Amino acid sequence: MTDEAKERHAQDWPKPAWVVDARDETNPMIIGTLPLPPVEEYREQDGRFGAHNLHEYSKQVRDRLWHFAIRAAQEKFGSEWGIAYNGAQVRTQCHLHLHIGRFVRAAETGRFKFVRRVEDFPAPEDSGLWVHPVEGGFHVHLGEQITETALVR
Ligand SMILES: [Zn+2]
Repeated sequence: MTDEAKERHAQDWPKPAWVVDARDETNPMIIGTLPLPPVEEYREQDGRFGAHNLHEYSKQVRDRLWHFAIRAAQEKFGSEWGIAYNGAQVRTQCHLHLHIGRFVRAAETGRFKFVRRVEDFPAPEDSGLWVHPVEGGFHVHLGEQITETALVR
């Protein structure tokens, strides 16, 4: 969950990205914030400064986010989980968010990168991605904008 910048050039900085434990959907709890990229580096760029795209985060932050999301997915769906990150062209909310759900086996395609470790997950700039566990690692499916359809609605 993120606070949304409304001003250009980080005039209303900081707008944190909050980590929410929503395992009990009737009692969501804020358990931390993600570190923000350095404001000095982005203040002069056009647009609003904030947490929008996965590739804009540091690798360290992305790894933490993936580990957290996978742990939550495993707790809820065992080994049948999937995590989907829609591409920016189809995202209805502009902030970064991951969809966690039960993986739809029929959604499997041949367009994936096999990855052994979370630390090797790519962060594409031009598409979304969806991830599910397989023997010895993960499939990271790339090249699609709409990815949450790989999960049970
Ligand atoms: Zn797959």
